[in-house]
Amino acid sequence: MEATHNPNAIDQFIAQLDGQVILPHDAEYEESRKIWNGMIDKYPAIIVRPTNTDDVALTIKFAQENDMVLSVRGGGHNVAGHATNDHGIVVDLSHMKKITVDPVSRTATAGGGVLWGELDAETQKYGLATPGGVYSKTGIAGLTLGGGFGWIRNKYGLSCDNLIGAEVVTADGRVVHTSEDENSELLWGLRGGGGNFGIVTTFEYQLHPLGPDVMFVFVLHDGRDKKTMERGVRFYRDYSTTAPDEVSTIMALGQVPPDEHFPEELHETPFILFGGLYAGDVEAGKKALQPLLDFGEPLLDFSGVMPYTDAQQAFDEDYPDGLRYYWKSLNLTELNDAAIKRIVHHARLQPSPFSTTDLWDVGGAMKKDVDGAFHGRHVNFLLSPEANWIDEADDEINVTWLREFIDDMSIFSDGSHYLNFPGFQEEGDEMMRKSFGEKYQRLQVLKREYDPTNFFALNQNIKPR
Ligand code: FAD
Repeated sequence: MEATHNPNAIDQFIAQLDGQVILPHDAEYEESRKIWNGMIDKYPAIIVRPTNTDDVALTIKFAQENDMVLSVRGGGHNVAGHATNDHGIVVDLSHMKKITVDPVSRTATAGGGVLWGELDAETQKYGLATPGGVYSKTGIAGLTLGGGFGWIRNKYGLSCDNLIGAEVVTADGRVVHTSEDENSELLWGLRGGGGNFGIVTTFEYQLHPLGPDVMFVFVLHDGRDKKTMERGVRFYRDYSTTAPDEVSTIMALGQVPPDEHFPEELHETPFILFGGLYAGDVEAGKKALQPLLDFGEPLLDFSGVMPYTDAQQAFDEDYPDGLRYYWKSLNLTELNDAAIKRIVHHARLQPSPFSTTDLWDVGGAMKKDVDGAFHGRHVNFLLSPEANWIDEADDEINVTWLREFIDDMSIFSDGSHYLNFPGFQEEGDEMMRKSFGEKYQRLQVLKREYDPTNFFALNQNIKPR
């Protein structure tokens, strides 16, 4: 481990920790170094799995003293791959899974390594939920710190809007608590400002009554005809802008994946997917979501009344670990008919049958002026095409498809992105400035207060002011 000057330093460090340390010669290393995106292939010098806040503080101190780069890994699902690095330290929080639910105050606390499926399972025991993502295996950490778009966002807001407190270990190893009454500016920054201010060891969320059963639509309509596809997007735009706040939706254009989960005769058939969840009464939900089913004769229909925790797993089979992924996004200030034609044009050029072009409506509670760093509330739609493919030989064609798509759509946008779908953050500081808008300078001031040397740099990075 060249980066450490004192040969005894690692031994001394390990002896102080309660948690696990994995080094390159350990049998577990090969599996442990991998993250979800197969495009990222890095070799950290030390992987630490802390079990408590003291371990996290010790690890930060060790990295600082030995001048080592440090990554923070919540669920390991960030597409840009900041959860790992070459030659540095990875703080892998997967052993910090404690969850507590208080059904009276309708709040929950969760450790920095908890995944959405784990938090949903606990909160649903009390008929409660906090808005998460639409995939149960992402970490609560990265998703919340970057925003958090899910199936109940129009009713209850983003994940970060429901963050009401946190325990954070800062760059100088201090343990800081934040809430609306204590270090509140830090809470403001954690609501969308990413992992810039420290390692969050505990998240505290507001919960809301939900389920256990909900009405959920997940339907694929025939998209073979280009005009029908365009009509599908126009329909989605009009439907989602007039639906009640209880309805949150996603639309995706793609091809039926050629795998065993789908009938062989439909493999690679272009589809228009409508997904929608009604956060409220099941009968009202059936009525409100019916238009999504009536759009055409469905190719495949997985809709129905189901436990909220099942709806939360609807996409779980679609994103296996280790596939190659490149996802980007753009906040659309306009989704007019011209924009829709461009979207459909590019969607139909996708080189891989596993890719999709996704649209998320931004409405209801998401439009409220929540006191937080998240910026993308000023638009009505988020466009997030995702390139998903298998072979390394196809890297260029897939990445190029997506970059050209985003570039071409920029005339319908103010150039801001959703930073949890950031590609590889090739645009660097410019991407951050555009995506945080007028909040960027306030974030820089906060960064200077909590991390003046930019020690936490592997993230949606904000340069200290
Ligand atoms: P990680 O890669 O572990 O972490 C990402 C970054 O967050 C780290 O680099 C670090 O900077 C920071 N971080 C992580 N943990 C901590 C911590 N405890 N303290 C401080 N900083 C920390 N987003 C949505 O909004 N809605 C969705 O429905 C959605 N679905 C997705 C589905 C899939 C299959 C994938 C891969 C991603 C999805 N995303 C979604 C995007 C997701 O929000 C981001 O990928 C997010 O970064 C994942 O968080 P993570 O903890 O798993 O990631």
